[in-house]
Amino acid sequence: MAGPEQDPGGVVALARALIRCPSVTPDDGCGINALAAVLEGIGFSVTLLPFGEGAARTPNLFASLGTGQPHLCFAGHTDVVPVGDAAWTHDPFGGEIHDGILFGRGACDMKGGIAAFVAAVRLYLQKTPRLRGTISLLITGDEEGPATNGTVRVLEWMQANGQIPDFCLVGEPTNPGEMGEVVKIGRRGSLNARITVQGMQGHVAYPHRADNPIHRLLALLGELTAAPLDAGSEWFEPSSLQVTSLDVGNTANNVIPARAQARLNIRFNDLHTGADLAGWIRTVVARHAPKADVSIAISGESFLTTPDAPVEALRRAVHAVTGHVPKLDTGGGTSDARFISRYCPVAEFGLVGASMHKADEHVVLADLKQLTAIYSGFLEKVMG
Ligand SMILES: [Zn+2]
Repeated sequence: MAGPEQDPGGVVALARALIRCPSVTPDDGCGINALAAVLEGIGFSVTLLPFGEGAARTPNLFASLGTGQPHLCFAGHTDVVPVGDAAWTHDPFGGEIHDGILFGRGACDMKGGIAAFVAAVRLYLQKTPRLRGTISLLITGDEEGPATNGTVRVLEWMQANGQIPDFCLVGEPTNPGEMGEVVKIGRRGSLNARITVQGMQGHVAYPHRADNPIHRLLALLGELTAAPLDAGSEWFEPSSLQVTSLDVGNTANNVIPARAQARLNIRFNDLHTGADLAGWIRTVVARHAPKADVSIAISGESFLTTPDAPVEALRRAVHAVTGHVPKLDTGGGTSDARFISRYCPVAEFGLVGASMHKADEHVVLADLKQLTAIYSGFLEKVMG
């Protein structure tokens, strides 16, 4: 792996070094510190931002190079999910390379993405001796966990310190099968609800002396699922409500139970807010079961970054390297981009995610080099 042709910007060496830090959430001091040292070597000023106490203490960093506008920020995480139960054929923290493929936990999600961005900055600075504007990195050690002391807290710190960027690029793996397929410009929101209907227990032969909570629960779920929530919007699929569990736990066939519970999840697009949907659920429930207990958790609102200049620059950079015009997409699960979207426009593009969170997670070295070229092309277009 010696020489610039084999390892442009040092992307492969850095990806291997990061994989060799066994930084399973929330234990990520090694990954953050290793990256901090590399960034300082390039000239970044690095601020370590550990937040939280005790076992919940999360390492994070903010690093910046240059001053003023334009300010482009790259966001990512150095923590990884556990190795899991399935057998690996390669050491998950060894950084082994076989036949042009680098194996290890975090190879594509997303130590490889971070390495590609750092390598791209090196390549960009070689071509551009005088940097105009600011390049920064927001890196957390808690994306795969509860995320309370990670990106959210770093963004608060960035705002307090006048470091909110003009645009943020998140390096999560966005491509399902090959490089260049998908740029994410938004994500759906997610809401979980638990509805517990209290009735009155009794003998099935004397229903007038009981109040069957299952019948009330079925009626309200029937109303909640009767019609689609919407037909989709310009950039989003239709919202979807899915009942995920019905629990009564009644073992007798001659007893009307005292309570019945259901859980549901809604993945919602930009035609709704979590609060609107929560209000709607509570209204429907109250109509059928006024004494029901409803608990609702909104794990993220939907967001959309309008595909203007920076998104177009990213799209062109992807096309120049891969030959594909990437689809602009808002599907999939949530990511830390949902927090960043409250402060500035954000888009996501990274590696091929097919092996993420699986045994033998890996990245093809050619993809790693392509991503480095895409990120440096994007830097040239945005920073000038
Ligand atoms: Zn990730």
